[in-house]
Parts: sequence; structure tokens; C-alpha cells
Amino acid sequence: MRKRVSILSSVVFFLFFCGVTVHWGFWAHKRINRLAVFRLPAELQVFYKKNIDFITENAVNPDRRRYAVVGEAERHFIDLEVYGDSAAYTLPVFWKEAVAKYGEDSLRRHGIAPWYIQTAAYQLTEAFKVKDARRILRISADLGHYVADIHVPLHTTRNYNGQLTGQEGIHAFWESRLPELYADHYQLWIGEPVYINSISAEVWRVVHESHSALDSVFQFERKLSTTISPEKKYSYELRNNILTRSYSREFSDAYHRLLSGQVERRMKSSVRMVGNLWYTCWVNAGQPDLKNSEMPVDAAEDKNEKAAEPQSWLQRLFKVRPEADD
Ligand SMILES: [Zn+2]
Repeated sequence: MRKRVSILSSVVFFLFFCGVTVHWGFWAHKRINRLAVFRLPAELQVFYKKNIDFITENAVNPDRRRYAVVGEAERHFIDLEVYGDSAAYTLPVFWKEAVAKYGEDSLRRHGIAPWYIQTAAYQLTEAFKVKDARRILRISADLGHYVADIHVPLHTTRNYNGQLTGQEGIHAFWESRLPELYADHYQLWIGEPVYINSISAEVWRVVHESHSALDSVFQFERKLSTTISPEKKYSYELRNNILTRSYSREFSDAYHRLLSGQVERRMKSSVRMVGNLWYTCWVNAGQPDLKNSEMPVDAAEDKNEKAAEPQSWLQRLFKVRPEADD
């Protein structure tokens, strides 16, 4: 019996620390991309709406690719504190200057999300210019993902999972568990899109905002942990037939209350920026008419990404840092 218990607890321990969890959650990423479609002006919305299932389902592609594609993982985050105080204001805004100052390897090690979003926006604009439906949709879906990621405070810090402060598990808690529990009540509806005058400035503004939210993310968790006993802090439940440790409902309720709308604000801001960015790229491409642009029927390339997912979890354990893993 004792042996069984200890095997069980090591399995739970193993699963917990291997991060068998979901993302911003997969659910939230899909929701953000989907809602962004409804913000677009009619001429553009017709095209996106025709392909709304693709845009929704593929919102999680970048996470699937992270384990299979070299160079993908670092597109999802940036460890701002590596660069000292107020880094969101002092780092080179553009990739070229950043490479000249820090070198590419070092940049990639600490995450390149704010620069990569600018690259993807450029690619989207180019795809619009030639009315390449598949590229427009694939890059839009990806871009939605990266934009949503930089809205998550824990995607802007080296302490991405509370591992430096004894708060392991906080990453999935904030971006998966909380939205799953409470997002049904969020007001995520936003009106017409707004043209972004400077994409780079907007990206860095969001990164700074996310990073500033970190204090409350960590402090409230710590504060609550002193008032709620460890037995009540966690619960164990079966998710996809896997016994998983997560924060209890009681702890989640209290934490979510303390954050007073933070998760909702970040999610809403994600929807806002994703819509604005798609719209801005379309305007920059000269507002092409996409009435006759169809997504090719064969989407083999897209299926490959799904196939790459299951084979990759060993790589994920040893290579890809769990933060990008959420
Ligand atoms: Zn991601």
C-alpha cells in the first residue's frame, strides 16, 4: 500500500513538474483569435469569417511547433530583467539594432517575441499585397498567438514559472486555470479596429504593461499562500485521464479576486491588438480586395504541425524551457 502511494505521488510530482498542462490556455488563444475576427471592418471581415475556423484552430500552432521547429520557442517570450531596469524602454526597438548590440545568440536565449511580432507583421503585409490566402491566414493565426503571449505578464520574465521564488506552477495557473474558470464572465467585446501608427511602439508598450503587472502576479500568490493552508491550496483532478495537481477552487477564487480583473484586462487587450494589427497590415498593403481569394483545399502543410506535436514531448522535457510550454 505504502509503495502504491509513493508511486502515485511520484507520478503526480513528475506530471506536475513536467508541466502537463494547457496554454494561455489553448482555449484562450483560440478565443482571442476568434473574437478578433469580429472586430474587422466589413470588407476584410468577409474573408476572415469564411476562414474563421482555421483562424481559431490554428491559434495554437506556434505552441505545437515549439518542440519540433528550431527557433520557434524563443518567439513566445522575453526575459526583460536580463537587460536591466526599464528594459522595455531602453532595448533597441528594431531587431537589427538589437542584434548589433547584443548578438543574435544571446537575444534568442532570452526570447525575441517583441521583435518577432514586427517581422510577422511585415510578412503579413507582404502576403496581403499578393493576396496569398493561405499565407494571410497562417500568418494571421500565428501573429494572434504571439500578440496574446506578450500580454501574459509571465512571458516577460526570467522567473516565468515562479521557479526562482518558490511559486512553481504559477504560469499555468495564471494563463490557463484562471481563464478556464472565469473567462465565461469576461466582457471581451470591443468595437471597430484602430490603425496602429507605429507597430514597434505598440508592441513595446504592451510588453512594458505586461511586465509591470508582474508584481501583483507574484505578490498576491505569496500573500494568499500565507493565509490558505497547503492542503487547501492545491487539488488533484483527472484531466485527460491524467492525475494533475492544480490550484484549488478556493485558492483560485481568492487569487482571481485579488487580481481584480487583471486577467480579463490582458485578454481583452489581446483581442484589441490582434484585430488592430491584422487591420493595420491590410491597410499598409493597400487594402486589397480579397473577395476572390480562397484558401486552397489541400491543407496538408497545416496537418503536419498537428502530427509533430505528440512526438515532441521528449524534446520538450530536455530542450525547450517550460515557460514557452506554459
Ligand atoms: Zn506561446
